[in-house]
Amino acid sequence: MANFIPVNTPRLSGREREYLLECIDTGWISSEGPFVGRFEEAFSAKVDRSYGIAVSNGTAAIDVAVAALGIGPGDEVILPTFTIISCAMQIVRAGATPVVVDCDPRTWNMRAEDAIAAITERTKAIMLVHIYGLPVDLGPILEVAREKGIAIIEDAAEMHGQTWNGKPCGSFGDISTFSFYANKNLTMGEGGMVVTDDPVLADRCRSFRNLCFLQQKRFVHEELGWNYRLTNVQAAIGMAQLEEMDTHITRKREVGRLYNRLLVNVPGLQLPVPATNYAENIYWVYAMVLDDDVPVDAEQMMKLLAGEGIGTRPFFWPLHEQPVFLNHGLFHGAHLPVAERISRRGFYLPSGLGLSDQDVELSAETLRRVLAGL
Ligand SMILES: *Cc1c(COP(=O)(O)O)cnc(C)c1O
Repeated sequence: MANFIPVNTPRLSGREREYLLECIDTGWISSEGPFVGRFEEAFSAKVDRSYGIAVSNGTAAIDVAVAALGIGPGDEVILPTFTIISCAMQIVRAGATPVVVDCDPRTWNMRAEDAIAAITERTKAIMLVHIYGLPVDLGPILEVAREKGIAIIEDAAEMHGQTWNGKPCGSFGDISTFSFYANKNLTMGEGGMVVTDDPVLADRCRSFRNLCFLQQKRFVHEELGWNYRLTNVQAAIGMAQLEEMDTHITRKREVGRLYNRLLVNVPGLQLPVPATNYAENIYWVYAMVLDDDVPVDAEQMMKLLAGEGIGTRPFFWPLHEQPVFLNHGLFHGAHLPVAERISRRGFYLPSGLGLSDQDVELSAETLRRVLAGL
């Protein structure tokens, strides 16, 4: 279509080209190149962590985090049902049990009290997943977890630059993870990172990233790892993006506020919460939920908007409704009404860093017009 506004376009306006040329000119294109270590150090420092282990994507980062914590058969891991499947895959593959909780109808994040209520003697970890623009309100989760010896995994894939009560997202987990996929606030197309302050966990993450080679005897293996290495070419783009990250976050917030202004008086929409007492929305995506009296669901609305040249994406589909997990014998009879509702009525508008103000205005105006015509 001539004037289609895609749901995401990245912004590559820093030193990406210069650093990429450096890779080519020096011949360093593999994961052994110097940008990888530099990026690990600079990014982990940015989120107040001692160690960063770069991996090939955000899903890989979660796999490595779950493996490094030794999660396995008999263990339970508490996590929100309203999240991407990446969060649950390694839990299930390792033979542990994902225990899912519902989310808050306004922020779409897991609630601290629900996570705490789901704790049993078998709970090995709680996975915090910050959704769309606001962090999980941690409340007493961290204290309770510490008292009970429960590990915290923090999936901060969507939260580069966000804070909870002034502390960076990505600094709360025993292990925290990031994604650098093309729609994230810092991207190299594909990429991820695990961050931690624990040197033993950091070593385990490095080992799982790189096939669990034994340090003393290469090609001898005592555990099963993955090749989840990030390349120097990717890390080069990552370094350039990191230099621009604060600008990216400022722009994300500008776009979010512009959408808010344009849509606040449009009936039928539940818009993102601009701020809470623990965080200001970062608007990783500009997400919304259709009120019950709007006569179409998100899927139909997204089709109508696509017909008008506006790219959108649906909300996550709840983990407890995923066919693959039901077929696995998980989550039978689970009913988590908030996630079930928002997954059917929620979607997001074009939100990428490459959007112009005019793109935002056209997207909002088109949505307003489509809604008025229903
Ligand atoms: C993007 C995302 C991931 C997965 O990252 P990939 O790099 O796409 O594998 C995991 N968790 C959340 C919350 C995400 O938004």
